[in-house]
Amino acid sequence: MARSALLLLIFFLLSLILLPIAVFYGIKMLNPPVQVKIGEKLIRVYFHETGITKTMPLEEYVVGVVAAEMPAHFEMEALKAQAVAARTYALKMEENSPHPEADVCTDPNHCQAYLDDGDLRKKWGILNFWRYKSKIEAAVNSTRGLVLTYQGKLIDPVYHANGGGRTEKAAHVWGKEVPYLQSVPSPWDEGDPNYQRILTFTLEELQGKLGGQVLPAAANLPPGNFIEALERTPTGRIKLLRVGNKILPGGEARKLLGLPSTNFTWEVEGNKVRFRVIGYGHGVGMSQYGANGMAREGYDFLSILRHYYPGTEVVQGY
Ligand SMILES: [Zn+2]
Repeated sequence: MARSALLLLIFFLLSLILLPIAVFYGIKMLNPPVQVKIGEKLIRVYFHETGITKTMPLEEYVVGVVAAEMPAHFEMEALKAQAVAARTYALKMEENSPHPEADVCTDPNHCQAYLDDGDLRKKWGILNFWRYKSKIEAAVNSTRGLVLTYQGKLIDPVYHANGGGRTEKAAHVWGKEVPYLQSVPSPWDEGDPNYQRILTFTLEELQGKLGGQVLPAAANLPPGNFIEALERTPTGRIKLLRVGNKILPGGEARKLLGLPSTNFTWEVEGNKVRFRVIGYGHGVGMSQYGANGMAREGYDFLSILRHYYPGTEVVQGY
């Protein structure tokens, strides 16, 4: 009896010491402070939602970008390829940033998306947070410092979700020839369940999206041919589209109609237009689904990057 009471007392005393320590470290692990090691490469990040600029280790920033820009369940080699692309982008922005007091911002429509630990816990849930965060950290750490260059200069490492089977040449999308942004086959894209999407609009909806009356009155509509592809790129993407009396570049048509890509065809059925869209994104540079498909087939991140950015090299960036 006395022995068990003594044990209980010891246990109680130990708890008094250990419990606060466990709570302290538990909280610390949930909210780790930014730790900067001497000589570590830093980057200034402007958070567009709060207006705050934070200086943080570049590699830590890259973890937040990969987590935001690529599904965490993707293959390790695909995540590594994404890490190299994200790091290259950040260092290129640092060379000539449009932001007055930062190198990059967290607005995905301007620079690259970035999620911090709080955002990632919400996105993934607590359990997946530990699993995915350490997986992405492993991808980033194993490519630490590596960047993509072309003829010794950092490249513009653009990427998109799904290339629709073949990526697009930069010149066809942005009108500027970039030697390492050429059209390459990307058959792995077809493994994506969202490889093809169907979107249907009524004629009223279609005109609403295009900003007003672009079609003649319904009674005078010529059957079927009021939408016309005036020009397509060699990969089949729309370069110039005519809808009624309106002519617009493929990229603008995609934006106004809210289509996943410019790689689309359509069918007119009565009062409705049904668009069949292939792939997702502008189609230039690395296809993320393609990268994942290559990784599944056993290609490493270097082969993935060499494939989607032909002629480039992976080198130590700092
Ligand atoms: Zn920006």
